[in-house]
Amino acid sequence: MKRKNTWNFYGKKELEEIESLSEEYRDFLNAGKTERECIKRILFQAEKQGYKNLEEIQKQGIVLRPGDKIYVSHMEKAAALFHIGAKPLEEGMNILGAHVDSPRIDVKQVPLFEDSGLAYLDTHYYGGIKHYQWLGIPLALHGIVAKTDGTTVNICIGESDEEEVFVLTDLLPHLGKDIEEKKQKEFIDAEKMDLLIGNRAINQKEIEKRSSVKTAILEILEQKFQIKEEDFLSAELEIVPAGKARECGLDKSMILGYGQDDRSCSFAALQAILNCMEVQRTACALFVDKEEIGSVGATGMHSRFFENAVQVLTEFTKSSHIADKNRILQNSYMLSCDVSAAYDPMYAEYFERQNSAYLSGGVVLNKYTGSGGKAGANDANAEYVAKIRGCFEKNQVIYQTAELGAVDRGGGGTIAYIMASYGMDIIDCGIGVLNMHAPWEVSSKADLYEMNKGYLAFLEEMK
Ligand code: MN
Ligand code: MN
Repeated sequence: MKRKNTWNFYGKKELEEIESLSEEYRDFLNAGKTERECIKRILFQAEKQGYKNLEEIQKQGIVLRPGDKIYVSHMEKAAALFHIGAKPLEEGMNILGAHVDSPRIDVKQVPLFEDSGLAYLDTHYYGGIKHYQWLGIPLALHGIVAKTDGTTVNICIGESDEEEVFVLTDLLPHLGKDIEEKKQKEFIDAEKMDLLIGNRAINQKEIEKRSSVKTAILEILEQKFQIKEEDFLSAELEIVPAGKARECGLDKSMILGYGQDDRSCSFAALQAILNCMEVQRTACALFVDKEEIGSVGATGMHSRFFENAVQVLTEFTKSSHIADKNRILQNSYMLSCDVSAAYDPMYAEYFERQNSAYLSGGVVLNKYTGSGGKAGANDANAEYVAKIRGCFEKNQVIYQTAELGAVDRGGGGTIAYIMASYGMDIIDCGIGVLNMHAPWEVSSKADLYEMNKGYLAFLEEMK
């Protein structure tokens, strides 16, 4: 088996396409740094291309026909797009499913406090992070505050050059002798990862009067956002790295950006469904939340919202009298669109060379994930893997296969095993990422291009 470097296979036309795709991709990453922002962006693009809300279809009692484009949105954190195919629904759909949440640090419900003249927001991290990576870097605050009067306030602070940013402070090396001997986990107590947000003790209303730093911060919150301290109780505020996704490397071959797990696959899945022409089997792109914490909750893959959406779909398509949601799902094909850890020569001992994903090695197929003897894995059926290989080869999609790291080095899971429980054929398919789960992750522009091609071929051609 010879490994390919995808860059060897491109002519002028492809290279131009790669550049414009990567520009759109960076734009997508910058617009969606939380699950809500990401879903908003996805639905904005979908509506622009004629996708209609399924709720509207329901209200108007419209019968869906081949070529119709609809979407379902759930709590503004999950969504599904459907492009109705020529074949009856019960023959199954071709589904691309990605997640839109990424590791980050969340603000607690009662977060604000002052210590030694410094104001902080208390936090609780979300997903698998290495704590130390988040110290001493510029951070932005994104999210919403829901108020008791039914209104919500959108918050996004720290993304433009003029705006203020925030920081989790680190200890200077001069005093860090005993810390250096500690294990990574003990290095910083997660309870001490509190966001520094202020230090000025003046009363904003009566500028000559002194106040506490906390009071001053509360006044700013009131003035700028019309929120009170109690409103944090019903807020979802996420701390993410501040700044835009950038081109990376002297050859500009890579992208450095936050949240590429899994917004690289979300982007490609969206592109694929928006670009697919006439489809035989109904095409679906599914975007879910909470994957990083086990796919739980109302907006995670374990939620029935997708199943319910498929049920509604059956009621509004012509063949509704025989369609059954479980049969449709069992007859479906799915790519669980998620990233893979790319082989990193700096950490070679954690990988097994032959079964690793390589950066710019093309789109990655992970037959199985899991850990410690494949525990918790969806292990895709060999016949299905062959079918996908055939589809990719026919469409000149450069692909590679991989496991997540060497055996017994750890592991992980995706949404694949959850959807597999419907009895459908499903395999993990995404791109290799370096620096995964770090504030800034690295991907290859060429892999993104191959993933786009692969997802489109899957939607249009899997029969
Ligand atoms: Mn992921
Ligand atoms: Mn992840």
